[in-house]
Amino acid sequence: MTDNDTRDLIIIGGGPAGYTAALYAARANLRPLVIEGVGWGGQLMITSDVENYPGYVEGILGPEMMRDFRAQAERFGAEYLTEDVTSVDFSERPFRVVVGEDEYRAKAVIVATGASARQLGIESERALQGKGVSYCAVCDAFFFRDKEVVVVGGGDSAMEEALFLTKFATKVVVVHRREEFRASPIMLDRARANEKIEFITNAVVDEVLGEEGRVTGVRIRDLNTGETTDLPAGGLFVAVGHDPNTNLFLEQLQHDEPGYLITQQGSTATNIPGVFAAGDVVDHVYRQAVTAAGTGAMAALDAERFLAAEEGHEATALTAPRVEAEAPLGQPEPTRSIRGQPERQKV
Ligand code: NDP
Repeated sequence: MTDNDTRDLIIIGGGPAGYTAALYAARANLRPLVIEGVGWGGQLMITSDVENYPGYVEGILGPEMMRDFRAQAERFGAEYLTEDVTSVDFSERPFRVVVGEDEYRAKAVIVATGASARQLGIESERALQGKGVSYCAVCDAFFFRDKEVVVVGGGDSAMEEALFLTKFATKVVVVHRREEFRASPIMLDRARANEKIEFITNAVVDEVLGEEGRVTGVRIRDLNTGETTDLPAGGLFVAVGHDPNTNLFLEQLQHDEPGYLITQQGSTATNIPGVFAAGDVVDHVYRQAVTAAGTGAMAALDAERFLAAEEGHEATALTAPRVEAEAPLGQPEPTRSIRGQPERQKV
């Protein structure tokens, strides 16, 4: 096993949270190593147009956006290892992160391995991802204006996605494999009350139909009779749940029942001092690129502050209370504006 030098910070995961953490950490001179995974980019790699990430006026393709994030952090010195982490040991410091035969050590670690949308697992679904097959209605519903769409799933996500889609689509068909629903009664009632939503139960999607690289419909199979029917549809929304990518960490980091990591309120700190978590690996509510990026920035600032405190100079960290924010001894108070608010400090 090769022993590499101990680094200040290792970031595990290459999605919006990991790359944003890398950008902030690199700009704080922490020389982060990002072990981004062979499938770097995360869920945005299976998304086409992203129109709700601030700053991209015309929208951008998901994979292109991830390349931009990656390159921006690299510009400030982030280093990448395009491999999957095979194990971690957070029981003692420096922490150990193992990639195959190689071991990397760091004083602080940010876990940003994200979550994966569950897939139906059929070939035509994979082929038409981002071309009418979507895993996020909030992200993509806008592209299905005046179209008929199908949602697969019977949980709260499926109901929420179906309801959201009714703002754009002319008709939403929910296909669920059982008669009973996992969704909460209130969500189910809301969906049932919406006249744009139809339900087909005891049925599964056998195939996604496409022409010229776009979804044109789905072939569904009745689980009682075995009969198949082709439903015309401009899009298929797969809402059969998400799984946090946390198998590597479950024994060492606190997590909830489905496996999402637990962080302290208002912080990205996990139960192990020096280990932080950001993005969808923590968040099963918002799940947006912009929210993941936001918590990635928080994790880098938390890590920077942790490292500075370890080295005995916490006040130099970016998130430490700013001495210059208070009037230094012998200096006048900050000038008051006419509304009685202090004028903005330079940061
Ligand atoms: P769930 O695990 O609750 O539901 C997944 C659904 O997909 C189930 O109905 C399941 O069927 C179905 N399913 C799973 N795999 C397949 C498959 N291969 N083919 C067809 N159907 C499949 O996941 P959700 O994402 O809906 O919810 C996750 C959590 O988040 C829940 O706790 C939920 O309450 C919460 N949530 C809350 C919301 C809210 O309150 N606004 C909104 C969204 C989520 P089956 O039932 O047969 O197993």
